[in-house]
Amino acid sequence: MTTRSGWHRRPLPLPPLQGDRRVDLVVVGLGGSGLAAVHAALDAERSVVGIDAGPHPAVGAAGRNGGFLLAGLAAFHPEARARWGEAAAALYAHTLTAMAAMAEETPDLVVRAGSLRVETTAAGQAALDVHHEALRADGFRAVRVPAGLFLPDDGVFDPFARSQARAALAVRRGADLVQATVRGVEPGAVRTDRGVVQAEAVLVCVDGGLARIVPNLAGHVVDVRLQMLCTGSGGDPSPAVATYLRDGLDYAQRRPDGTWFVGGGRDVSAVAERTSEDRVTQPVQGHLDALLAQVGGGTVRHRWAGIVGYSPDGLPWCRPVPEQPGVWAAGGYCGTGNVVGWMAGRSLVAQALDGVDALAACLDQARTHASARVG
Ligand SMILES: Cc1cc2nc3c(=O)[nH]c(=O)nc-3n(C[C@H](O)[C@H](O)[C@H](O)COP(=O)(O)OP(=O)(O)OC[C@H]3O[C@@H](n4cnc5c(N)ncnc54)[C@H](O)[C@@H]3O)c2cc1C
Repeated sequence: MTTRSGWHRRPLPLPPLQGDRRVDLVVVGLGGSGLAAVHAALDAERSVVGIDAGPHPAVGAAGRNGGFLLAGLAAFHPEARARWGEAAAALYAHTLTAMAAMAEETPDLVVRAGSLRVETTAAGQAALDVHHEALRADGFRAVRVPAGLFLPDDGVFDPFARSQARAALAVRRGADLVQATVRGVEPGAVRTDRGVVQAEAVLVCVDGGLARIVPNLAGHVVDVRLQMLCTGSGGDPSPAVATYLRDGLDYAQRRPDGTWFVGGGRDVSAVAERTSEDRVTQPVQGHLDALLAQVGGGTVRHRWAGIVGYSPDGLPWCRPVPEQPGVWAAGGYCGTGNVVGWMAGRSLVAQALDGVDALAACLDQARTHASARVG
């Protein structure tokens, strides 16, 4: 990592893996999705080891993101319906259920005060109306307000604090969370720089950098860099509403202490941002400075970047790894993995233990619709 994110506070240190282990399930990656998988394994009363290369959980995107909890996948609902048919509404409903569960898990860290989509152009205003209609047609809550489109079920959270809290609870529940760098995964085993962990099921929960661990997912999930900044605290805080602008390309969250967390501008240098290199750049940070001035201003305290996974079809990978029986992977959330990653992590455990899962079935239905449409 080049810089710590503005969220970084009171990390939970991970002890190093001490030699070889054998457990029921091994989870690679202790971001939001990996920690969700660890808890799902514990819920199923299975022994579980969680491995991360970082010195603490959520060293990657899960601990350095915008802190938005949004319903739906990355595509706005009108586009989702066009691409995935009826599966779009089912996926949206899954994310609402997931958000409620996440809020229940950490009630002090999640604020479900809604999100506001703001558009300033005439075309953008028309898009808000279409978005509004599509949600209402499927029975989801959305309110057209003068400032934009308000989605009352969305929310915000401190992604770093929540990850540390979930990791600490997992350890208290009996999970073994350790630090080690994974060199490779194979059916029944994860090889690391500190030993081999053998397990009935290997679950790789890594969004950005997934194909480095599972090379045959290259092409299914590709790395993209996202950048952010935050200010110092102070000023008059407004209620915590997640605000996103310009088709969701820009986003801003104001915390109760007055700190602004501002991100986006990926399109400013779209080709350069298709990278695994985790560093901030002037073109994008310059755009974020202008965005900060637009939303409220303040003195910048931290600037940082994070790597996420994008999938060409906009659907996450949340399924077995081809040609590697007993290995499942999740990633490719297209920049919106806080809720979808939580769902995907839990889904991998259900797939590994039960062979079926409602989210995986829904994603398959969406893929089938998309390919029939193209065909
Ligand atoms: C700047 C930014 C803003 C964002 N804003 C939002 C937002 O507001 N809302 C939203 O929903 N999403 C947002 N996202 C996307 C979201 O953060 C990610 O999709 C999500 O956090 C992915 O979580 P994860 O647990 O799957 O992966 P990660 O958080 O990337 O975790 C993967 C873990 O795997 C570990 N790892 C990687 N390689 C190895 C290895 N070889 N050995 C061992 N461990 C390894 C890493 O150390 C890391 O901890 C944003 C992302 C960024 C970067």
